[in-house]
Amino acid sequence: TDGAQLPILVIGSGYGGAVAALRLAQAGQSVAIVEMGMSWSQPAPDGKIFCNMLSPDGRSYWLRTQTAQPVSYFLGAAFDKTIPKYTGVLDAEQFSQIRVYQGRGVGGGSLVNGGMAVTPQQQYFPSILPSVDPAEMYATYYPRANAGLKVNNIDQAWFETADCYQFARVGRETAQASGFNTPFVPNVYDFNYMKQEDITTPGFGSIGGGSAVPRSALNSEVIYGNNYGKQSLDKTYLAAAVATGKVSITPQHVVTKVTPAAGTGYAVTMNQIDTSGNTIATKTVTAQKVFFAAGSVGTSKLLVTQKATGALPNLPTSIGTGWGNNGNVMVARANQPALPTGSLQSCIPVMGIDNWSSVGGRAFAEISPFPTGIETFASLYLAITENPNRGTFSYNSSTGGVDLNWQQAWNQVSIDAASRIFDPINVKQGTIYRTDLFGFFKTWGDDFAYHPLGGCVLNQSTDNYGRLQSYPGLYVIDGSLIPGCTTVNPFVTITALAERNIENIIANDMK
Ligand code: FAD
Repeated sequence: TDGAQLPILVIGSGYGGAVAALRLAQAGQSVAIVEMGMSWSQPAPDGKIFCNMLSPDGRSYWLRTQTAQPVSYFLGAAFDKTIPKYTGVLDAEQFSQIRVYQGRGVGGGSLVNGGMAVTPQQQYFPSILPSVDPAEMYATYYPRANAGLKVNNIDQAWFETADCYQFARVGRETAQASGFNTPFVPNVYDFNYMKQEDITTPGFGSIGGGSAVPRSALNSEVIYGNNYGKQSLDKTYLAAAVATGKVSITPQHVVTKVTPAAGTGYAVTMNQIDTSGNTIATKTVTAQKVFFAAGSVGTSKLLVTQKATGALPNLPTSIGTGWGNNGNVMVARANQPALPTGSLQSCIPVMGIDNWSSVGGRAFAEISPFPTGIETFASLYLAITENPNRGTFSYNSSTGGVDLNWQQAWNQVSIDAASRIFDPINVKQGTIYRTDLFGFFKTWGDDFAYHPLGGCVLNQSTDNYGRLQSYPGLYVIDGSLIPGCTTVNPFVTITALAERNIENIIANDMK
C-alpha cells in the first residue's frame, strides 16, 4: 500500500528474487516482493491457467496484439497470430537489433523456460565469474541451488522407448555419427509426471485409452507456461518463502523509481497496472533495504534510468555495461526421410551436444523440440556459444526509455561456432539446413535471445556479493550480475550465485 514502511523490498520474483526472499525470511526478516507480471494461479474460463503453443491467446504474450514466436515461419511463410492485448506470461522485448524473451509473472523466467537445469563444468567456471571461488560454488552453492529448484533426471530406459523423445534420439544419433558428445541434461520438470502423460509408458496411461494425467509437456506447453509438471519457482523457492509467513508477493506492480528517502532507506515508486497494462494507481513505499531482482534487462533498465535521471546519481559508470546473449543462436536441419522426429514431442529438452572444448569455436547446443503436432523431419537446436561481444544499455532522454546497442552482426561469431557442430553433421548425413523457419531463405535465428545476462556485473558495478556500494542497503541479485555468458543454460548458475551472495549479505548486513 502507498506510504508503507518496509524493512526489505525485493523487485522481481525470478530466480534471484526468490532465493533472496526465502533465505532472508528463514533468517527472520520480513520481505515484500513486488512483481510486474501476474500471479499465474487461477484458471481462465477454459479451465487452464496457461495456453499452449499451438493455440496462443492473450495469455501468451506481454502486451502485444500479435504473437512473436521464436520460430515464426514455416515453409517460408509467417504464421504469427493476432491476439488480444493482455499482461501475458512471455515478453518479447524488442531492442534495435535483438528481441529478448523474458518471463513475466510470479516466478519470472521459470514460468516460460524449458526447465533445463545445467551446472557448467567446473573447469570453465573461472571464465564465467572470475572473482568467485569455484571450490565454494561446486561444494556448496550449486548443490544448494539444485536442491532448492527440485532438479531431477529423466529415466534413461524410458527415454530410449518413449515416442515423445524420438526427436532427441534422432538428434543424438546424428550428432554421435559425427563424433560429438551428447550428454543428458537435468530438468525441473517432474519426469514421473511426464511418464504418466505418455500413453505408451507401461503401467501408465491406460485410463480411458488416454493419458493417466492431464498432459502438459506432451501438450505443446512450455514457452507460454506449463499447466502441470513443471516445478517452477512458484512451486519451489517462492512457495517455501511464503510458507515461512514472513514473505508477501504483490503482482501487477511495475517499479519505476528508487531514490534515497528523506530519513533512512529508499523511496520506491511503482505503478499498479491492470491486465491491459494501464496504470490504475501510483504508490510510493519506503524500504530500508532494496534488492534488484528484475532480471538482466529489468535491473539494468531500472539502474541506468535511476543514474541518468538523478534518482541514484552516484551509481558507477559501469552500470548498463557487460551485457551478452549467452551466445544464443537457433538453427534447424532437415533430416533424411528415414529419420522422422515424431509428431508427438515432449516440450522439455533433455539432451545437449557438447562442443565446448573446441577452442576454434566453443558451443553447447540443446536438442530442442519442435512440437507442431505433425511429422516435420526437422531437428531444431538452440546453441549457446562463446561470443566475446558485449552490449551496453543507455538511457534515451528523448523517449524516456532505455536502449541496448547490441548488433545482430555480432552473432556471426556464434553462427560460426554452431556451424562447427552442424556443418559436419550435415555433411555426414547428406542433409541441409532448414531455411524456411526464421524467415524466407534464412538459416539462422540470430535476432533473438532467451538468455539475457549482465548489465550490472559482479565485482565491477557491485562489490563481490552484489552490493551497490555507493548506496548502502541496495543490492543486485539476478542474472545482471553475470557478464554475458554461462557456457550452458543459465538459471542454475543465477540461483547458485544468489545463494552465495545472500548468505554473505545475511551474515554481514542483517545484524
Ligand atoms: P527473471 O527470471 O527474468 O525474473 C525477473 C522478474 O522481475 C520477472 O518476473 C519480471 O517480470 C520482473 N520485473 C522486471 N522488471 C520489473 C519492474 N520494473 N518492476 C517489477 N518487476 C519487474 N534458462 C535455463 O537455465 N534453462 C532453460 O531451459 C531456459 N529456457 C528458457 C526458455 C525461454 C523461452 C526463456 C525466455 C528463457 C529461458 N531460460 C532458460 C533463461 C532463464 O529463464 C533466465 O536466465 C532466468 O529466468 C533469469 O533469472 P533472473 O532471476 O535473472 O530474472
